[in-house]
This record gives sequence, structure tokens and C-alpha cells, in this order.
Amino acid sequence: MASEFTAKYVIYHVAGRFQLHFFCDLCGCSYSSSPIRSDSSDTARAVAIAEARRHFNRCHKCNRWVCGQCYNEDEMECVECSPHNDIDKRVLASRH
Ligand SMILES: [Zn+2]
Ligand SMILES: [Zn+2]
Repeated sequence: MASEFTAKYVIYHVAGRFQLHFFCDLCGCSYSSSPIRSDSSDTARAVAIAEARRHFNRCHKCNRWVCGQCYNEDEMECVECSPHNDIDKRVLASRH
């Protein structure tokens, strides 16, 4: 198993099912797991995380979990660490 999945989430318990909503660390958009029937929230969380981590990507620089839109697959980093285009990169570089 790869690194620990640390995206922020909220958990709802509705009609005997748990559903978790995970949030991208950069843009805050959410991914909702499918409803999980389980006796314990710990089990439900493990199932939901296994599902959600396929929809998120971990930045290898800052270790944040971000959605596909916030991920630069070429660099395996988030778009904040590795912006998609060179213009953004120059702007960020000139700020430092
Ligand atoms: Zn995002
Ligand atoms: Zn990053």
C-alpha cells in the first residue's frame, strides 16, 4: 500500500449507511463515496478511502492529496508546486 490517504473528509450516517465526502486540498472540490452499509464507521471509512484514493493524486513535493484537475501528471506534483504552463511557473518564481 502506498502512502497514507490524508485528504480532508466528512462522514454522514444516513439510514444505516455511511457516506464519506472527501475534499481536494487545493480547490476544495469534493468526491463522494458510494453509500456503505457497515456496523462501524471505521470499517466504512476504510472502504471509502480505498475508493476515494483512486480519484485523488498525491503531490510528491508537498504530500497533499489533490483532485485530477489540480494534479500535474507529468511532474507527479500538484499544480501549485508544478503549474501546468510555463507562464504560471515564471510568475510564481518571480514572487520568491
Ligand atoms: Zn482540486
Ligand atoms: Zn504540491
